[in-house]
Amino acid sequence: MRIAIGGFLHESHSFAPRPTTWAEFLEPGGWPPVQRPATLLDALRNTAVPAAGAIRVAETRDVTIAPLSWGFANPAGPVTAEAFERLAALIFHDLQAALDQGPLDGLYLDLHGAMVAEHFPDAEGELLRRARAILGPDVPITASLDPHCNLTEAMVRHADALAPFRTYPHVDMKEAGARAMELLLARIRRGRPFAKAFRQVDYLIPITSQCTLVPPMADVMAARAAIAAEKGVDELALCFGFPYADFPDCGCAVAAFAETQEAAEAATTALVAEFARRETEFAQPILEAKQAVTEALRIAAGASKPVVIADTQDNPGGGGHGDTTGLLAELIAQGAQGAALGLINDAESAAACHAAGEGASVALALGGKSDGAPLRVEGRVLKLSDGRFMCTGPMAGGNLADLGATALLGIDGVKVIVTSRKMQAYDQALFRHLGVEPAEQKILALKSSVHFRADFQPIAAAVLVAAAPGPVVGDPATLPFRHLRAGLKLRPGDNRRVG
Ligand SMILES: [Zn+2]
Repeated sequence: MRIAIGGFLHESHSFAPRPTTWAEFLEPGGWPPVQRPATLLDALRNTAVPAAGAIRVAETRDVTIAPLSWGFANPAGPVTAEAFERLAALIFHDLQAALDQGPLDGLYLDLHGAMVAEHFPDAEGELLRRARAILGPDVPITASLDPHCNLTEAMVRHADALAPFRTYPHVDMKEAGARAMELLLARIRRGRPFAKAFRQVDYLIPITSQCTLVPPMADVMAARAAIAAEKGVDELALCFGFPYADFPDCGCAVAAFAETQEAAEAATTALVAEFARRETEFAQPILEAKQAVTEALRIAAGASKPVVIADTQDNPGGGGHGDTTGLLAELIAQGAQGAALGLINDAESAAACHAAGEGASVALALGGKSDGAPLRVEGRVLKLSDGRFMCTGPMAGGNLADLGATALLGIDGVKVIVTSRKMQAYDQALFRHLGVEPAEQKILALKSSVHFRADFQPIAAAVLVAAAPGPVVGDPATLPFRHLRAGLKLRPGDNRRVG
């Protein structure tokens, strides 16, 4: 059996400050850069990316892998037409070259599912359409997805099955890749397509309400498993949505892949009803930055473990640039001691720290390059690094981070990690590689919305979610959407709908 494996992953925020260019796929911070067929398997096999799970399954079966190209860029603005076409050209060139060498029994694609390209708002629908056009109706195609994908009817139509991760924080990326490969093998064995059904939920879910460790999403995930078992479907794909993509299919959606149409329809209907029943539970307030710091100082005074503040709105994993300074300014203004902030993505300031050297005092206009609001600070360069370290946490363990020239800057009682490239603060190694032991801090401020919980919640006395400047807004209803579908509600528990 011969199966092709490739991938194209991006999560696009229509209102993020910067577009996603080809350069971002070549240097994607904490993830592997663009791979060609000759390097794909060795580069990905031992990482945390979904394709690693698919590769593992394929290599333990009687499968010959035809590697294609694969690429990932960190979440940011829409992917430029150039970047989309360059990576798509590589993948489909490789696919046709693989076909020239002999027939393929199937294709697995490692996709995110929330990519918006400048010229294709449903970018994965377009990728799957191209794959189907080349392979024809009879060669099965499956893909793994991030549950933050904005699942579309076109994606479901062109694929044979789709397998999203089941966790947020995403600690089962490889499992989803493995499941997509198992579904592909099952589809090849049965010799005919699965029955499919697709349904959309009628309200946007803020990402801070999507965490599967706590209700209501923890309860919905339990319901998903029960429904899938009861209806006997092969895959009940639940996608929470990425509520920052300005196109008609933005939002939460579900799909079922099953033996019968009846089972597929029954499963998606039951799961959408679960969201309708719990709608008001998804409306959860978040604190202003000032309040969050005050509350963190109060809790930290009596705690033996750090208080974590999530700087959710500048989350580099959601399209933030990772350089806004609102939370840092509050920590300094309120005199926080024993605090550490990861991170401020500011290549200019990192270079200035490297030029000054360890131990030197520096005056910087720190961060704020994306929103024009840098913070004037004076501090001491405590440590320098090249920004390369191996992630160790449950989500990204095995991924090599490569953040470029990096510095640990001390500003009064606050240590700040200043990097040259962005990364979501979801791994303790980010701090440890600079000699900062996260568990020994009083306060940890993290540029992350939910992913930090996998590695940091176990060492935290408390977790607070703060609203400081940044595009990953806690309330998507405040964004200037123009292309959402009629009838969609911008907030859970708020009956105003897109007209
Ligand atoms: Zn995600």
